[in-house]
Amino acid sequence: MILIDGKKIAAELREELRHEVVELKAKHNKVPGLTVILIGDMAPSQIYVRNKEKSANEVGLKSEVIRYPEAVEEKTVLDKIEELNKDERVSGILVQLPLPKHIDKQKVIETILPSKDVDGFHPMNVGNLSSGYESSVPCTPLGCYLMIKKIEPNLSGKKAVMIGRSNLNGKPMAQLLLKENCTVTITHSKTKDLKAECLEADIIVAAVGIPELVKADWVKKDAIVIDVGINKTENGIVGDVAFEEVSKVAKALTPVPGGVGPMTIACLLKNTIECFKRSLK
Ligand code: NAD
Repeated sequence: MILIDGKKIAAELREELRHEVVELKAKHNKVPGLTVILIGDMAPSQIYVRNKEKSANEVGLKSEVIRYPEAVEEKTVLDKIEELNKDERVSGILVQLPLPKHIDKQKVIETILPSKDVDGFHPMNVGNLSSGYESSVPCTPLGCYLMIKKIEPNLSGKKAVMIGRSNLNGKPMAQLLLKENCTVTITHSKTKDLKAECLEADIIVAAVGIPELVKADWVKKDAIVIDVGINKTENGIVGDVAFEEVSKVAKALTPVPGGVGPMTIACLLKNTIECFKRSLK
């Protein structure tokens, strides 16, 4: 079984990006800039943002974090986004989710200029991705996609099953694999026989949030299994895939932690650089 080492692949990607930033700086005398807006003091968000900032600096991006207290008014945040939209030093804007209840998530997403939307959540980017045009692609599915391609460069004709249909994971993941000519099935909480669907799959991407949902007898021999799930349990952090048993059947599998997580952050940096390059056109 191939253990898909997301940490290592992400480190390689960051190194490639670091070189790219050096070249861009030499050519254009400026570097891509990433601005993250963080609202409130939820511990996981604080950790994500700290990791994002650290990785951005490592790659040579200009990064900035704007922090607001939990009670910040929606208008303050929207005004700041408008200001960042106009600021040409800022290539990418990310508002860390989840947001406090009094702030309208969709309004925030739609205020970010599509060309600076490094999360790929703006309806314009969602539409472009599903129409097969150039767009920012959500970082987690992009990271999963790059790992799958490392294992199997030619995905044409493969059967791929997404578990979960969120805008963040399942849906954009399905679009990426469809573009690669996979036959894609998106399953969700109302799917009748999830095990039977999974047993058909050459590729399974699990993004559910249920600890060790996917068992060995759900997985076809030699399938590629990508585990997006992050679940806190008594035994520590586990994914949506029963790692030990599935590792005996699958051709390749991502660990949790150390699989999808590091790739998500590396892809955020990649998206920031892509936004910068498109702004030069
Ligand atoms: P979500 O709650 O938005 O979506 C979960 C999806 O799972 C839904 O579409 C739902 O229909 C489906 N589902 C629920 N129960 C099911 C069942 N019994 N069978 C089949 N489908 C079922 O979640 P999300 O934001 O997509 O995140 C999913 C998981 O991925 C979470 O554990 C989250 O923490 C993790 N995550 C990890 C990363 C990363 O970088 N590694 C990034 C984002 C999310």
